[in-house]
Amino acid sequence: MNPEASDKSVDLRSDTVTLPTSAMRQAMAQAEVGDDVMGEDPTVTQLETQLARRLGKAAAVFVASGTQSNLVALLTHCQRGDEYIAGTGAHAYRAEGGGAAALGGIQPQTIPFQSDGTLDLSEVARQVKPADVHFAVTRLLCLENTQDGKPLTPSYLQEAGSVCREHALSLHLDGARLFNAATALGCSAEALASPCDSVSVCLSKGLGAPVGSVLVGGEAFIQRARRWRKVVGGGMRQSGMLAAAGLHALHHHVDRLADDHANADALAEAVNARYQGAAESHTNMVFVDLPSGELATLQAYLAERQILIRGRRWVTHLDVSRDDINRVSAALQSF
Ligand SMILES: *Cc1c(COP(=O)(O)O)cnc(C)c1O
Repeated sequence: MNPEASDKSVDLRSDTVTLPTSAMRQAMAQAEVGDDVMGEDPTVTQLETQLARRLGKAAAVFVASGTQSNLVALLTHCQRGDEYIAGTGAHAYRAEGGGAAALGGIQPQTIPFQSDGTLDLSEVARQVKPADVHFAVTRLLCLENTQDGKPLTPSYLQEAGSVCREHALSLHLDGARLFNAATALGCSAEALASPCDSVSVCLSKGLGAPVGSVLVGGEAFIQRARRWRKVVGGGMRQSGMLAAAGLHALHHHVDRLADDHANADALAEAVNARYQGAAESHTNMVFVDLPSGELATLQAYLAERQILIRGRRWVTHLDVSRDDINRVSAALQSF
């Protein structure tokens, strides 16, 4: 049978396109729920408790999205007129509608990411503003793990943590794909979270839940974050239905992230077999460096074969199998 003839699509546009598995839907349907704004949803509480423990922190709060999680974190760490330092391409700065500025009066100071996804910590230190009425108060450093698929290591994060302490900054980690990083590095999620004051984890990326993120941190910090979550309209009621999907993902979809990384490596190899040296894989992402005209033609060709790509970042996830990668590989060879 022609592997390209299958009518099921291979969707490499993002790891947000995953559909809840039937086991996950079953867990959602059976979840014990209550009014979480009143603190009475046992499934939400269970998710928060389990993830906080797993990251070695005291508390956590379940939120609607990664964007809401970063926004609530920024609003909780910073006051109006404060400043946070983030990568120029950081999701929290660049891809969240300027929420911290719009809603919190919090100013960003950006620094370009280095090729390994880190920020140069001596540059971070240089950007901390002196105590002088001319300047915003630099309050927070925001890092991202993974950054474009690249994992930040525990030792880098430790170093970042000590730079923050030296300059009286808090450290927030946008760990949308924290478990991809831990899987790739062979370390615990706790080792990555330990130097950070707060960590945001997405359940709806590679972990395969339909909705939700969790913001993790200290007891007092999370208590204040709960107020901000309510303010931005994120107080949800019987959200245990959604938290159950997150719990299911934490129990069943973390260990399998290694498969996504292996599939990304195989996909990069397939691209390189057609275009030598064009592709690089990092955890579950493949970056395909082709001229935009060539990429557009390829995208249209693949779309006719129910293989969906969007731009130069191709992403593997729960709903992409090794057979699917083989199908993409065959399509690339015939292109
Ligand atoms: C997807 C993503 C977010 C935001 O998550 P949403 O749930 O889409 O709002 C934040 N940071 C990073 C690095 C992400 O990839």
